[in-house]
Amino acid sequence: VGTLFIVATPIGNLDDLSRRAEQVLAGVDLVAAEDTRHSGRLLQHLAINKPMWALHDHNERERASSLLDRIERGESVALISDAGTPLISDPGYVLVKAARQRGIVVTPIPGACAMVAALSAAGLPTDRFLFEGFLPAKAVGRRKALQVLSRETATLIFYESPRRIQGMMADVVSVFGGEREVVLARELTKTFETFYSGAASGVLAQLEEDPNAGKGEYVVMVAGAQIGAGEGASVDADQVLALLLPELP
Ligand code: SAM
Repeated sequence: VGTLFIVATPIGNLDDLSRRAEQVLAGVDLVAAEDTRHSGRLLQHLAINKPMWALHDHNERERASSLLDRIERGESVALISDAGTPLISDPGYVLVKAARQRGIVVTPIPGACAMVAALSAAGLPTDRFLFEGFLPAKAVGRRKALQVLSRETATLIFYESPRRIQGMMADVVSVFGGEREVVLARELTKTFETFYSGAASGVLAQLEEDPNAGKGEYVVMVAGAQIGAGEGASVDADQVLALLLPELP
């Protein structure tokens, strides 16, 4: 029986591909990729020539079972995504879940991940964080999702596209308040890597002034709510009371 390797690839700088990732990609029988054209360029850069299968959200279920059949027949497969670590806001969950159910060995080959890279350099608390991936694209859904998170005390981490970054930051200001500390990491590991940080309203103003703000990819990090200050604490007390009341004699 073969192995399913989950291989992290660079998020910009190609030198971030590990030597082990390169060896695994060179050694497998088949590479499953989110976008075979995009990943084909990476393999070409590495001078690796392998059969490639497209595995994306729309065909993952059906492709997963034939990929796993091949692994059971002895082939090894590497799963990669367009950038960073597969399954992190990327396809692969269905495949890995099914592989484990079938008793297939799944081995991670760790490497770049935008949220970990961003958090490691942000200067926000890292002891507890909540990765939320992409918020809903439409403003109403996005605001609702932020409202649900407004009392969360862990550092919040989101992915956002350059098209929506200003709209998202405007909603962060209106839902969390302009004083909440925010750090944005843009174009990590690339030539124009930029961090924006400060109070949410100030960060929004920096984006509005920066002509390059509409280009590049973003990780958005928001400091958690301060407990004890204001609402957070009283709401917790209400919740505790609501839970305890039915138990009282
Ligand atoms: N699997 C990837 C990972 O491990 O980070 C994430 C894939 S997700 C589809 C793409 C999002 O990740 C982008 O919209 C952006 O929010 C974030 N991202 C990816 N590369 C980035 C980079 N170089 N700088 C900042 N954010 C990045």
